[in-house]
Amino acid sequence: MSTLPVVIVGAGIAGIACARELTAAGIPVRVRERSYVPGGRMASRTLAGRRVDLGASYFTCRTEPFRAVVDSWVSRGLAHEWTDRFAVRTPDGWGSSSVGPVRYGTAGGMRSLVADLAEGLDLTLRSEVTDVGPGPTVDGVPAAAVVLAMPDPQVSDLLADELTEELAAVDGRESRPALALAAGWPQRVWGDVDGVFVSDDPELSWIADDGRRRGDGAAVLVGHSTPEFAEPYLDRPLDAGEPLLAGLMRVMEIDRAPEWTYLHRWGLASPTDPHGQPFHLGPALVALCGDSWGTPRVETAWTSGHLAGRALVERLS
Ligand SMILES: Cc1cc2nc3c(=O)[nH]c(=O)nc-3n(C[C@H](O)[C@H](O)[C@H](O)COP(=O)(O)OP(=O)(O)OC[C@H]3O[C@@H](n4cnc5c(N)ncnc54)[C@H](O)[C@@H]3O)c2cc1C
Repeated sequence: MSTLPVVIVGAGIAGIACARELTAAGIPVRVRERSYVPGGRMASRTLAGRRVDLGASYFTCRTEPFRAVVDSWVSRGLAHEWTDRFAVRTPDGWGSSSVGPVRYGTAGGMRSLVADLAEGLDLTLRSEVTDVGPGPTVDGVPAAAVVLAMPDPQVSDLLADELTEELAAVDGRESRPALALAAGWPQRVWGDVDGVFVSDDPELSWIADDGRRRGDGAAVLVGHSTPEFAEPYLDRPLDAGEPLLAGLMRVMEIDRAPEWTYLHRWGLASPTDPHGQPFHLGPALVALCGDSWGTPRVETAWTSGHLAGRALVERLS
């Protein structure tokens, strides 16, 4: 077995799940993340003195391997069952509630779950990778294998021309953008809802009550825009604040301005054309995984990283 480490690029939940699988098998792993924190799109930020989720709103659990991870989070108080029922808002008004699977929330923000899984791993933050070549190499340095755990457009930016199979796998696969607007009021000024699926709206697709999902009752809403609304604002996101807030207040029937707002831009929020298989691993020992590899959600990303890790363990042992 090679003494070189496997280099994992991206400390979102997919990269960290992969790192854990390899580490459990005794394979040396190094994770490199360009941001100053792990978590990727499971993003939380401290706003007005408390954590607010700006990316993934919640997660679901449909598969047994992920169940073990979720049970561990729940038993340690890191995650909790939030709700199985959201309101529906159409142009005609409020529709009947939509009942679905149990959605889980977190007390410390979605990012805290990835940070928990990353405990004890060799993780370097603020470490952007710029080139993955045959060998494989990462920025010119040999590795036993490389895992690219990020959206497809970011993968294709990293791959050298010689990695033709990997380039073909991600060729032409785009991601949709979104804008997330968080807004806080002194007290709750909207109806009895946990979250709202918004349909046929010019600005919004989804609104979460952040105080309810966090469990602290804070009067904070987070609205996610439609991709169509986000597109023209991607290079000037702050200009979107006013129309997005107007949309949020219109949908929620709020007539009082918030005390504060915060806008976050997601250039690559969700893949337009997800793959039909859970990951890619070819002879070049460059694995591709993440939420582009299935229905784009937290559980998919974890599963993709976990399975890519298992496949690499078999290949490298
Ligand atoms: C607005 C929004 C709402 C969502 N809502 C939900 C929801 O309610 N429920 C749900 O289940 N899912 C939701 N999702 C989807 C969920 O967040 C993703 O499926 C999941 O977090 C993807 O994880 P990942 O590890 O595949 O990718 P990411 O989280 O994107 O991680 C990729 C990581 O790679 C890093 N990276 C990229 N390029 C480099 C480089 N060159 N060098 C080093 N590091 C690099 C990035 O910084 C990032 O940390 C939502 C996503 C968004 C954006």
